[in-house]
Amino acid sequence: MKNNIKAFLDLVKERNGDEPEFLQAVEEVAETVIPYIVKHDIYYGKNILLRMVEPERVITFRVCWVDDDGEIQVNRGYRIQMNSAIGPYKGGLRFHPTVNMSILKFLAFEQVFKNSLTTLPMGGGKGGSDFDPKGKSDNEIMRFCHAFMGELFRHIGPNTDVPAGDIGVGSREIGFLFGMYKKLRNEFTGVLTGKGMSWGGSLIRPEATGYGNVYFAQKMLETKNDSFDGKAVVISGSGNVAQYAAEKVLQLGGKVLTLSDSSGYIYDEEGIDEEKLAFVMNLKNVKRGRISEYLESYPNATFVKGKTPWGVKCDIALPCATQNELNEDDANTLVKNGCICVSEGANMPSTKEAITVFHKAKILFAPGKASNAGGVATSGLEMTQNSLRFKWTREEVDTKLKDIMSDIHKSCLEFGEDEDGYVDYVRGANIAGFVKVADAMLAQGVV
Ligand code: NDP
Repeated sequence: MKNNIKAFLDLVKERNGDEPEFLQAVEEVAETVIPYIVKHDIYYGKNILLRMVEPERVITFRVCWVDDDGEIQVNRGYRIQMNSAIGPYKGGLRFHPTVNMSILKFLAFEQVFKNSLTTLPMGGGKGGSDFDPKGKSDNEIMRFCHAFMGELFRHIGPNTDVPAGDIGVGSREIGFLFGMYKKLRNEFTGVLTGKGMSWGGSLIRPEATGYGNVYFAQKMLETKNDSFDGKAVVISGSGNVAQYAAEKVLQLGGKVLTLSDSSGYIYDEEGIDEEKLAFVMNLKNVKRGRISEYLESYPNATFVKGKTPWGVKCDIALPCATQNELNEDDANTLVKNGCICVSEGANMPSTKEAITVFHKAKILFAPGKASNAGGVATSGLEMTQNSLRFKWTREEVDTKLKDIMSDIHKSCLEFGEDEDGYVDYVRGANIAGFVKVADAMLAQGVV
């Protein structure tokens, strides 16, 4: 078995050697899925995983725009159309200076499995730009988004590829992108998700990734007859996912101790309650400030510059910022401090070594492709409502989101339960996600 996995990974490395994040994501899937393929004749010998790691299409393009000083700026735009076996490509756009081919291919690859897990008919894709929205005026953001869509519109459509937000792309950016798409195509269609409520958006979409992550963690805790009630929760990030994860934790009776951004984390021993969270939402979403400014209003809290929050003692950890933000040492510290559950809101926030620590300690651990799938699932619900030209209520969407997270949890149990009863959610999510896509690819032949 080890030889099979090694031979496969060697080949993927040979072709994608300078893409470390992509190789990391492929390795995690290969180690759990290849043993399954080998035991199942319908998949064996068909190079099915090799086909899955090769994007169906990669688009890169120039994005030129003029800043407020009249200077011409040049950025690079990307769209990775990874796999369309079970539906149109679907996945977010990330605007961040670190964006490159490796990061977008890892995100697109993860997205294929995640979208399959949601039970909805969505293929996988991802895109974005190395554009940095930080410090830009609203007008600069608008000019960049319009320029970006000036090329992307050729490659997307409601039945082809439906992008959404990700890091650096929230409702403001989706608005500008949608406006330009509509102008160029002269069509009002559900080509992007995360739209505003008055122009095709779905209720609960802004909350969905954070809420969904907490619903998933709740399902994991229930397997141990436990809950969020009274638990100390450490959260990283302070963007869309972190904010709504915190909101749901508070609703379920947990105490939120930390939030962070790329400059450091804040620790509030008294707990970040609803009022303080509303302050953070305003600070981040309206004023576009830094998390350290929390201390100006709540001086009892502390700000730890340049660090992640994993050293703070907690029962539950929710990494909701970015990839590889939680390493082996952090995982050891969390376990030593009595953490019983880690549920990923971000994509691939835990390194491979950190996941090994969680598995060895047999604590509850959910990989992002399962636990953060609520965002794309609700995007799928937005697409359905757009096609129906209809709008479900907040309660209807929230109930559907809860049901989907519960179904994903069940799929993980089906493929991830060990003989001793411990659930390897990584294996469960990878195999459950793989089976549906592989079956569709086999049915469609070698294309
Ligand atoms: P936002 O842009 O709203 O927020 C991102 C947060 O993470 C900010 O607090 C940001 O801090 C912090 N962050 C970003 N990069 C780094 C870094 N290199 N080091 C430390 N902190 C960093 O993004 P989202 O909340 O939407 O996304 C967060 C994560 O969740 C990502 O991994 C994304 O792929 C994943 N995700 C998002 C979904 C969604 O629906 N939005 C769906 C599924 C997954 P700063 O402001 O300083 O940059």
